[in-house]
Amino acid sequence: MYCEDVAVADIAAKVGTPFYLYSAATLKRHFNAFDSGFDGIEHLTCFAVKACSNISILHQFAGMGGGADIVSGGELFRAMKAGIDPSKIIYSGVGKTEAEMREALFAGILLFNVESAQELDRLQKVAAELGTKAPVSFRINPDVDPKTHAYISTGLAKNKFGIPVDEALQEYVRAQAMENIEVLGVSCHIGSQLTQVEPFIEALRKIKIFVGRLQAEGIKIKYLDLGGGVGITYDDEEPPHPHVYAEAVKNELQGMDCTLILEPGRVIVGNAGILVTEVQYTKVNSGGKSKKRFIVVDAAMNDLTRPSLYGAFHEILPIRKTDRKKQEVDVVGPICETGDFLARDRLLPEARQGELMAVMSCGAYGFTMSSNYNSRTRVAEILVNSDQVHIIRRREDYDDLIRGESLVEVT
Ligand SMILES: *Cc1c(COP(=O)(O)O)cnc(C)c1O
Repeated sequence: MYCEDVAVADIAAKVGTPFYLYSAATLKRHFNAFDSGFDGIEHLTCFAVKACSNISILHQFAGMGGGADIVSGGELFRAMKAGIDPSKIIYSGVGKTEAEMREALFAGILLFNVESAQELDRLQKVAAELGTKAPVSFRINPDVDPKTHAYISTGLAKNKFGIPVDEALQEYVRAQAMENIEVLGVSCHIGSQLTQVEPFIEALRKIKIFVGRLQAEGIKIKYLDLGGGVGITYDDEEPPHPHVYAEAVKNELQGMDCTLILEPGRVIVGNAGILVTEVQYTKVNSGGKSKKRFIVVDAAMNDLTRPSLYGAFHEILPIRKTDRKKQEVDVVGPICETGDFLARDRLLPEARQGELMAVMSCGAYGFTMSSNYNSRTRVAEILVNSDQVHIIRRREDYDDLIRGESLVEVT
């Protein structure tokens, strides 16, 4: 298996395993595939930093004109370090602290996506203290079923996100009267890994009707933010091509005079990265009638959480092609949890100790969700560009594990 012009095995020999591996050419192609769908209309593609937040990758998107969708002060810090223009940064999330608001106001971001009445009050207060005006868009909860995994559905009335359409109008009226708030937009984000266009369009129709009501109140909307991107193929999903999504959105937007903002994450980076891991052991546990085969690898649920957290499917491929016969196996990590698996009941060619495997489609919500559980060092991130191999995050060492801890003697 190759990443651009470099054999994956050669990278493993150099940096050790496990590691995340990204292709610069694929990142570029995917960013353009999404962004170019909206050619011809005023728009801004703000990459969702939480999907993949390495500063080298953010920097690449900045160079292609991309902005950032952030959800914390830490992501603001990253986006700025990566050279993303603050006037292209939008700030989403239900729990912004005062300190985070100050940092974002100081940086001069494009928009705060406000998600509650209390958040609006807090933002007015913080902006007043700084003697500035906070640019605001409200995140509307359109109560649309995105038909995706429950944990990544965000646009239903029962989810914690956004303000219900019916309550939003009064918040806009209130905001309009606030001295240190500038009302500029409306936003929504109904969920992630959507494999159909219809829920997006249903949400957009509701937003359009709502914008009409705002206009009737004399409130002008400059930015319309449609949230995250479309889903990707992990297994046999058939998500729409970004251009199909873009055409449907453009069609629905006709006659509206505002700049479109998009916050794609997964669709750009998901299939631009893999996780490379080495087989440590193979074992068979048999008891009674059952016989179960395991491949124990050196990557675990702390490195890639999605299978454990969502029951997510990631294809697993041997790095070298093989004709060996297939067996049903669980691919598991070394962590002391039964939930520590990368794949379950999967037909894979017989694997042997020391061989390398690729966990596919790991570019989004892979490294960013990783942790130090079981005191495992977080893995390296590698970016390949043609024949160049760049370590864009070194593997952590044991000192990293206890950084910030102090040895207190309690008697
Ligand atoms: C997570 C998130 C996104 C990105 O979603 P993808 O499905 O990865 O494109 C966009 N906007 C907001 C507010 C988010 O929370």
